[in-house]
Amino acid sequence: MKAAVVHAFDRPLKVEEVPTPDPGHGQVTVKMEACGLCHTDIHASHGDWPVKPNPPFIPGHEGVGIVERIGPGVVNLDEGDRVAIPWLGYACGACEHCASGRETLCLNQRNSGYSVDGAYAEYALAEAAFVGRVPEGLDPMDAAPLTCAGVTTYKAVKVSGARSSDLVAVYGIGGLGHLAVQYARIAGASVAAVDLVDSKLRLARELGAECTVNATTEDPVEVIQALGGADQAIVLAVSPSACEQAFRSLKRGGTLVLVGLPAENHIRLPIFETVLQGITVTGSIVGTRVDLAETFQLHSDGRTRVVRETRRLGDVNESFEEIEKGDVDARLVFDFR
Ligand code: NAD
Ligand code: ZN
Ligand code: ZN
Repeated sequence: MKAAVVHAFDRPLKVEEVPTPDPGHGQVTVKMEACGLCHTDIHASHGDWPVKPNPPFIPGHEGVGIVERIGPGVVNLDEGDRVAIPWLGYACGACEHCASGRETLCLNQRNSGYSVDGAYAEYALAEAAFVGRVPEGLDPMDAAPLTCAGVTTYKAVKVSGARSSDLVAVYGIGGLGHLAVQYARIAGASVAAVDLVDSKLRLARELGAECTVNATTEDPVEVIQALGGADQAIVLAVSPSACEQAFRSLKRGGTLVLVGLPAENHIRLPIFETVLQGITVTGSIVGTRVDLAETFQLHSDGRTRVVRETRRLGDVNESFEEIEKGDVDARLVFDFR
């Protein structure tokens, strides 16, 4: 089969022939139809984070396709089912975190396209118990971005506690951000969207943001504080300075939700203001299998819009560049059909 492989963090991916994987116990082989390009795949291929993947590996954790082969012991899937392969490729099910409904915190987890091969390939292996079921009628090209960008921001809005009458500041209107705006609206909140690119801000307005700020020409802290401050700020920008601005755009008692994972791993957090203003700072990592099912349901019900363009896997390196330059309004999806 054809796959895009990372051989070294300082080299482009190579699209090459590799063996098609056989399903082991509890696993399925999925024939890919689509895989979204998450910025995490770019971080993975560059080795940006403190915990690094081991080259060679195949990225991709927004994979959607059809179950083609079933390994021994699989009881929940049939050949022909359409499934999604998310970042949480496996969790142990037995630890304190798994047992308390927080499987994304499992210390024994495996991550698709990072610690195990992912979906930038014609076929991918998946643990049958950890795939998402794609509802009948949901376009696989839409399902792909929902499998990470969707579920992650759906969960981040839940974690933020946003509700009607709140103002949510969304920093970074990319693949994740364009969906975050919509989930904050579904929660009933008003949205202030911040980015560096005007076309992304136009999109944010179309998707329901009442206020937009281009941080290259205006100070988002001033603009959002003039509105009374944000009750919640969710940061999806690949930028520590955006995290610091998001903190400063909060109202007293507000909540900062960190989601974006820039290579530069630290921000300066003022202790005095955090304490005296009663600020909550929290991280949010993808979502559980139930969160993913809810994300798909909202889309099936017509309540979200996935903005995406398709590319061929052969153009993977050019596609990474397009995202890094901010040239794409929201998501790119590799189309394998
Ligand atoms: P993306 O490249 O599509 O979007 C990032 C957006 O941030 C772009 O629109 C860019 O213009 C904007 N931006 C950059 N600097 C900015 C700044 N200073 N202020 C405001 N906006 C700025 O990326 P994506 O796929 O949406 O992913 C975003 C980040 O989230 C990545 O770091 C990714 O690894 C991370 N991520 C985290 C999780 C999680 O579970 N926590 C899940 C998926 C992705
Ligand atoms: Zn992702
Ligand atoms: Zn566990």
